[in-house]
Amino acid sequence: MLPAYPSTTSLTARDAAVIWHPYTQHFTASDPLTIVRGEGAWLITEDGDRYLDAISSWWVNIHGHAHPHIAARLARQARELEHVIFAGFTHRPAVEVAERTLGYLPDSFGKVFFSDNGSTAVEIGLKMALQFFHNQGTPRRKVVAFEGAFHGETFGAMSVSGELSLNNAFHSHLFEVVRIPAPLPGGESASVAALERVLTDESVYAFLFEPLIQGAGGMRMYTPAALDTLLAVCRRHGVLTIADEVMTGFYRTGTRFAIDQLAHAPDIICLSKGLTGGTLPLALTVCTDRIFEAFLSQDKYKTFFHGHSYTANPLGCAAALASFDLIDAPDFAERIARIATQHRQFAARLHAHPRVRDVRCCGTIVALEFETPEQTGYFNSLRDRLYAFFLSKGLLLRPLGNVIYVMPPYCVTAAELDLVYAAIEEALDVVIDERA
Ligand code: PMP
Repeated sequence: MLPAYPSTTSLTARDAAVIWHPYTQHFTASDPLTIVRGEGAWLITEDGDRYLDAISSWWVNIHGHAHPHIAARLARQARELEHVIFAGFTHRPAVEVAERTLGYLPDSFGKVFFSDNGSTAVEIGLKMALQFFHNQGTPRRKVVAFEGAFHGETFGAMSVSGELSLNNAFHSHLFEVVRIPAPLPGGESASVAALERVLTDESVYAFLFEPLIQGAGGMRMYTPAALDTLLAVCRRHGVLTIADEVMTGFYRTGTRFAIDQLAHAPDIICLSKGLTGGTLPLALTVCTDRIFEAFLSQDKYKTFFHGHSYTANPLGCAAALASFDLIDAPDFAERIARIATQHRQFAARLHAHPRVRDVRCCGTIVALEFETPEQTGYFNSLRDRLYAFFLSKGLLLRPLGNVIYVMPPYCVTAAELDLVYAAIEEALDVVIDERA
């Protein structure tokens, strides 16, 4: 029932009356900020306060807010065709998104399946891989994933994710996953040895991973060479490989996709987040022709029975095409390189800082672990203090526990990045862990 309140009631109070926010403990959370406008890297509140969006609004907004090119393309599409069922029908924006995406990817990829968020893109990848073996009459049932992985919030994606404490309530409903350590620096051979051991069992259908960097698990990074070794092992055992590039896609790791830094291409890649420049929900699960062909049959039961109401929504596709235009612009690579260089210089400055446990860079992402007596992790108690400190400085940064990271939109200027770095350095001095 709609609560009764006077017309002068603030939006914050109206929000509190009717909305349940994501990843929010409403018992203790402060009021949300009411944003009325976005402008480049900035978010503007109804009171006119400005916040620099240094995490690209959960990693989606790669070109800055309210980008005029995306807005214009979207407006045109809205007047032409807003949506059409995608079973038995098609449209130009979807065909062009698929063509351009395949043009960006290694030649081994051949088909694009549309959906609308990262978790679903991962679910689809897992289902494709499972049914690939099922359709050939050689069913397999185990999937391998990294410890510390994050792949989303649906039941399949929760199952393959490694941060189990977030999912305590659902443990009994998650499927079994064989876990190996990620090949973090120093742990490469343990990771390969674990994979070799697991794959002596022939029932593994896929290996799923976040390439080069585990995002929500704490911005933990590893090398392309380490991943290539694992992919080679999978190939030798006939196990399908699924790259979850939901976070890493579209230049987060410095190259268009993280897999561009590998010698071995995976069989399936999952994309979302930056796909539409952070404008509309859209996701792609792209697979090789070999996988697609395993579903071709007179037998109807070999069909991939999956499809969401908003599959390949034309508005989402139009936003993706506009985002691709911006990515293909001549000055784009230069912008990525400049952000990566600036991050590396900042990281070098912090290496010896007594309150920095570790600092690391990967393309347009820089992350540092704040030294605390507690373990590094999502529930580290420094998180809330750091988050509030950064907001008080006009910055949107959402530390993962004691891990502070910067993942800016690519329109961010050198001066804006300097503001972010200065606030982080100040936080290292003034934000105190009361238990220290
Ligand atoms: N995979 C990865 C690597 C992610 O980082 C995320 C989200 N943070 C997801 C999947 C899930 O994406 P979504 O939130 O769009 O469902």
